[in-house]
Amino acid sequence: MGRIVYFSFPAHGHVNPTLPVIRELTARGEQVSYFGTSRFARAVAETGAQFCPYTARVEMPEHGPGPFAQVSTTLETLLDFCGAVLDDHLDAVRRWRPTHVMFDSFAPWGRMVAQLLGLPGVASVPSILINRAIDERYGARPGRPPEDPRLTPQWCSWFRARCHTRLLGYQLPEPLTPPQLLQTYGDLNLVYTSTLFQPLAEDFDGRRFHFVGPCCSFRPDAPPFPFERLDDRPAILISLGTVYAQRPDFLRTCMQELGGGPWQVVLATGGQVNLPGPLPRNFIVRASVPQVEILRRASAFITHGGMNSVQEALYYGVPMVLAPQAADQFWISARTAELGAGIVVDSERLHPGAIRSSVAALLSGVRYAASAARLAQSLHAAGGPGRAADAIQCSMTHTGWPAGTRQPDSEPRAQAGSLEFSKNPGREENAGALGC
Ligand code: UDP
Repeated sequence: MGRIVYFSFPAHGHVNPTLPVIRELTARGEQVSYFGTSRFARAVAETGAQFCPYTARVEMPEHGPGPFAQVSTTLETLLDFCGAVLDDHLDAVRRWRPTHVMFDSFAPWGRMVAQLLGLPGVASVPSILINRAIDERYGARPGRPPEDPRLTPQWCSWFRARCHTRLLGYQLPEPLTPPQLLQTYGDLNLVYTSTLFQPLAEDFDGRRFHFVGPCCSFRPDAPPFPFERLDDRPAILISLGTVYAQRPDFLRTCMQELGGGPWQVVLATGGQVNLPGPLPRNFIVRASVPQVEILRRASAFITHGGMNSVQEALYYGVPMVLAPQAADQFWISARTAELGAGIVVDSERLHPGAIRSSVAALLSGVRYAASAARLAQSLHAAGGPGRAADAIQCSMTHTGWPAGTRQPDSEPRAQAGSLEFSKNPGREENAGALGC
C-alpha cells in the first residue's frame, strides 16, 4: 500500500472530480493526505483521506475568479502559491515519507514537491488536453475575451526572472516555465472524459494520459433540493458554475424567455446574483443545487461550458445550450457543439429569443439527444473512479510506470500531423499562445 499526498487547487471544479477517486483509493486501503482549503475540509474527510489545510497564503476568492481572470495575474498568483506551499509544507511532507505525490494540473507546486522528493507524480486534469492545433481549431470563437494586455515580451522576461528568484532556494531539478505553470502534467495523468470527447486524443500518449471519464458519483457536500416539486414536464437546469456565475443579465434573459414555457426550470444563481421577483411559476431558483442529481433527471442544460458541468451532463445524455464565459470553456463548448450535443450562444451578444429557440431545438426531435447519448456511452465505458484508481495503483507497482516516462529526455512525442511535444504535451503550445 502507498502513502499518497494530494495537492489540490482549491476550487469546486478542481476538487469535485477528485472526491470519488480519493474515496476509491482509501476504500482499497491506500493512505491519502489531501491538501486543500477549509471550505473543502468536510468533503475531503468524507472520502476517508486525511484533510491537511493549506496555510492562508493559498486561497481562492469566495466569489468570482479574482486574480485568475487574467493570464498574467494567474501566473503571478500561481507562483506565489508555489512559493508558499514549498515554504510552508515541504519539510512536513518530506517527514511523512510519502510514496507518491498527486496534484491538480493547475497546482504546479504539487509537481515541484514530487520533483524535490524524487517521487512519481500523478496529475488530475479537470479540463480537456490542449495543444496548439486544438487551440486553433476550438479556441477562436465569438465572445472569447480579449488577450491580457499585460502579456508583453517585457512582462514575460520580468516574470521569468521573478520565478527564478522566488524558487532559487529550492534548486528544482527541472524548473517549470511560465506556460508549464498553467498546465502541469505528471508521470501519469487522469483526464475526466473519453477519447471520443477529447479532440485529437491520438496526439496524447496513452501510457501517460488516461481518459477515465467523469468522476461525479460522490458529492458529500451537495446542497438540499426539493425534488418533490419536479413533475412530468421536461426539466431544464441553468447554471454558470461556481466561478463565473455573476451574469444577472444573462440569467434574467433566461427567465424572460423560458418563463411560462412547457417545462420546469431549475436555476442555480451561484449565490451572488439577485433576481428581482416575481419569479416565473415554472422556475425553482436556488443559490446552489445538487447538480449531478438534477442532471440525472434533466432534459436540457444551459451551462457556461465548464469541464465538470459538460461531462456531468453528457454522462446522463443531456444536451446543452453553452454560453462560455472564460478560459477552457470556449474549447469545451465548441467541442460539444461539434459532436452534436449542444448549441453555443454568445452570451455578450444574445439575439432576442436565442435561448428559447435553442432550448426548443434541443428538445425537438432526437438529433441532439442522440449525440449526447452516444457520448454518454463513451463516458460510461471510460470507467470512472474505479478505472482511475486502477491506473494509479497499477503505476504504484514496480512495473507500473510507463517505461521511460520519468526521464525528461525520453518524454513522449506527439504523433505525426501535430506539433511535437518536447517535455510536456500541450505546454509549448501554450507558450506560443502566451508569447513567453
Ligand atoms: N455545481 C454544483 N451545484 C451548483 C453549481 C455547480 O454542484 O449549483 C458543481 C458542478 O456539478 C460541477 C462544479 O460545481 O462539478 C462546477 O465545475 P465546472 O468545471 O463545471 O465549472 P467551474 O465552476 O469550475 O467554472
